[in-house]
Amino acid sequence: MRRLTRVVPAPADLDVDVAGVPQGSDIELDLRLESVVDGVLVSGTARARVTGECVRCLDPLERRLEAGFQELYAYSAEDAGEDDLLLEGDLLDLEPVLRDAVVLALPLQPVCREDCPGLCPECGARLADSEHHHDVVDPRWAALMGLREQVDRNEKEES
Ligand SMILES: [Zn+2]
Ligand SMILES: [Zn+2]
Repeated sequence: MRRLTRVVPAPADLDVDVAGVPQGSDIELDLRLESVVDGVLVSGTARARVTGECVRCLDPLERRLEAGFQELYAYSAEDAGEDDLLLEGDLLDLEPVLRDAVVLALPLQPVCREDCPGLCPECGARLADSEHHHDVVDPRWAALMGLREQVDRNEKEES
């Protein structure tokens, strides 16, 4: 059994709609290679930086991601089951395994914080900004306010 750690650059398209691992950024791998009868069993953990945006307020956010995986790499095609990968000489192609594990671990609904209030439905401003509010006036009150202005004006004209 062998243990090894590697840092590899993230391949392209390691993402879902709202979050992803930036291409070329570091992915840290902890790998355990175990010789078994039919091949090499690879177990490991991948750690990566995820960037994305909050699904509520659209602010950029950043996360750490950790994804585990395990895969058997068969020595030969005869030993390989349908879903098994093949060892190519001493090399194993980790990318498809890594890709599956990381994409599965990506957040589908990332939020900048659990109670992010999102955006104002009226003006699109971020509700987390403390100053944000609208003077919401019921149209019926608005009509009365108009009436009052009229009265004020009339009084001025009279005096
Ligand atoms: Zn947010
Ligand atoms: Zn608003």
